[in-house]
Amino acid sequence: MNRAADLRALLDAVLKAGPACGPDTADLFTDHDGESFEERYAREQQAKAICWSCPALSACEAYYLALRPADGVWAGLSQEDRDGLRAQAVA
Ligand code: SF4
Repeated sequence: MNRAADLRALLDAVLKAGPACGPDTADLFTDHDGESFEERYAREQQAKAICWSCPALSACEAYYLALRPADGVWAGLSQEDRDGLRAQAVA
């Protein structure tokens, strides 16, 4: 399978599991230009709370690990969280 097909299969698994996020909550999961640290923190905490009860959490983790998104909250982790985990993994 090629990368696009792999990503499609991983995304299909997320959708099949019934993600708790969707178009109505997308604003919570994506970075906003000009938001303050406090605003960003509050927004990300709301997004993470949705993730923690999401039936697609493990499928979403597999998807973002393959996708390597530049920002946003995925599987309960912000970009800062993911950077921290990567730094720990190479230390
Ligand atoms: S774990 Fe979070 S980002 Fe992933 S599908 Fe569920 S709610 Fe959406």
